[in-house]
Amino acid sequence: MTQGIDNKVVVITGASSGLGEATARRLARDGARLVLGARRLDRLQALAEELSLGDDAAVQTDVTQYDQVKRLVDGAVRSHGRIDVIINNAGLMPHSPLERGKVEDWDRMIDVNIKGVLYGIGAALPYMKEQKSGHIINVSSVAGHKVRAGGAVYSATKHAVRVISEGLRQEVKPYNIRTTIISPGMVATELPDSITEPDIAEAMQKAYESAIPAESFASVVAFAMSQPEDVDVNEILFRPTSQE
Ligand code: NDP
Repeated sequence: MTQGIDNKVVVITGASSGLGEATARRLARDGARLVLGARRLDRLQALAEELSLGDDAAVQTDVTQYDQVKRLVDGAVRSHGRIDVIINNAGLMPHSPLERGKVEDWDRMIDVNIKGVLYGIGAALPYMKEQKSGHIINVSSVAGHKVRAGGAVYSATKHAVRVISEGLRQEVKPYNIRTTIISPGMVATELPDSITEPDIAEAMQKAYESAIPAESFASVVAFAMSQPEDVDVNEILFRPTSQE
């Protein structure tokens, strides 16, 4: 059990794979009470069972639908009496050059990566304000600090996450709510699988050969959560040592 994590009620979006799943494993080990959201319910249920999280811990959630995100958060509060942390992690990265005009992919990235984060904030904030405590962790990226050809829309969404998080930080100080942006570099997950452009997909699969394990992200979450309540870790940017 870990000080600052033990017994905390934590909602994680995008917990059916990758960073969200690794974080669920880590925080469960450290004693957190978890509620997991994503669309693939079978995966969430298997994880919840493996981690002995209880019947209400796996909640099918599409983060592009505010009603569903609210139901996820409301359910956590109903089951556990409060919400201490929300990790707005769900995201996707179907890179493509703008000139290829993949409008549906642009829309999906904006809907999941930006609106999904806003909906998580919107659903959790009323409870956290009332509690006068809470911690909102939003997942950005190294791509939230720079842009490369083929990644303009993804980078835009991750820049947006950082801007939203910093605005949020300034607004919620009076309510004793902490905000953390986590900006990973290449971490081994299913993320590159969402790329449908063959040339970019191939280059990305090669680049991801030097990706670091998802536990690296979970350790960063655990670090931010386990600081004393009056210490707000605002952003952590990390990447494989070999990454540009
Ligand atoms: P994965 O593809 O492994 O996981 C993405 C998660 O997001 C899945 O659990 C997926 O669940 C969920 N998700 C996607 N769309 C939706 C939706 N509409 N509603 C609810 N959940 C959704 O990738 P990662 O674990 O790597 O990605 C997690 C976050 O980390 C993303 O925000 C990503 O941008 C960010 N990131 C990742 C990096 C990396 O190198 N891995 C680097 C920098 C940032 P389901 O399909 O079941 O809904």
